[in-house]
Amino acid sequence: MSAQIIDGKAIAATIRGEIKAEVEAMKAQYDRVPGLATVLVGERRDSQTYVRMKKRACAEVGIASFGDNFSADISQEELLKVVQDLNATPEVHGILVQLPLPDHIDEETILGTVNLEKDVDGFHPINIGRLSMKRRDPLFAPCTPKGCIELLDRTGVEIEGKRAVVLGRSNIVGLPVAMLLLHRNATLTVCHSRTKDLADVVRQADILVAAVGRPEMVRGDWIKPGAVVIDVGVNAVDDPSKERGYRLVGDVAFEEAKEVASAITPVPGGVGPMTIAMLLRNTLDGAKRAIGATEA
Ligand code: NAP
Repeated sequence: MSAQIIDGKAIAATIRGEIKAEVEAMKAQYDRVPGLATVLVGERRDSQTYVRMKKRACAEVGIASFGDNFSADISQEELLKVVQDLNATPEVHGILVQLPLPDHIDEETILGTVNLEKDVDGFHPINIGRLSMKRRDPLFAPCTPKGCIELLDRTGVEIEGKRAVVLGRSNIVGLPVAMLLLHRNATLTVCHSRTKDLADVVRQADILVAAVGRPEMVRGDWIKPGAVVIDVGVNAVDDPSKERGYRLVGDVAFEEAKEVASAITPVPGGVGPMTIAMLLRNTLDGAKRAIGATEA
């Protein structure tokens, strides 16, 4: 039997609708709206596209946009000042520094300067530290990992007690999603490039989160029958039949896996749309905390 397809696009649209309603209620009650600042450095086309998409998503739900684009030769000191100014701006409740930054800028220093209470990307070392500790909650969890958990929750997938395998251990996806699953009492295995007998380990998963960046690496016979598969991978593969010459595929061989899994996210249209929805959610949560504190 074919798996349930987890429609991330529809779930993200529902979440954006919920956020819009909450923003309207905040405006009605406090005459304030959440604000998100995006800091973009350099001319990378992909980064420019992501920032544009984030600003458009903010506008659609009534979140105000701040921030600027800076030339690739901005100095570290100048960029630190930009972040510090945004930290001090009360209308800004979330600060997003679009990565990657140019080589001459120390990413860790810049991310560590973002005010903890405005760290909507969830990458501040204290937020990551709290995410990694038992019974501690970060102020914000990173958006893509949080989106994976939200997809499981909104599909009615029980996490507690399940055997979860996370494929990949990057700071932005694999590691934080693993920590979130552990917080939710899954029994966790994290795999990476040095994992031996990878297919056998993956085959133990009741819940598999794949975030490796290798097109269709996970084959159908790696999946335990009835498992739930969250495919974070976004990989471009050549496809002359497409006008643009390529198509996007995940880290999981979708057509094979959907015959074995009980539920699976497609690529595109699975995890992808959730990332921005979670950014909006984090910004709203930050605003609620800040405005609640001022009004109390
Ligand atoms: P990354 O930083 O390159 O990390 C990849 C991870 O996979 C590493 O931990 C690496 O192991 C592991 N790995 C690589 N090759 C492997 C192999 N052959 N066997 C086992 N493990 C292997 O990638 P990322 O930033 O986490 O991104 C992963 C994927 O998610 C990419 O396709 C990316 O485009 C996508 N992504 C999607 C979204 C979204 O919103 N949908 C957001 C972020 C990323 P080592 O640690 O040992 O090197």
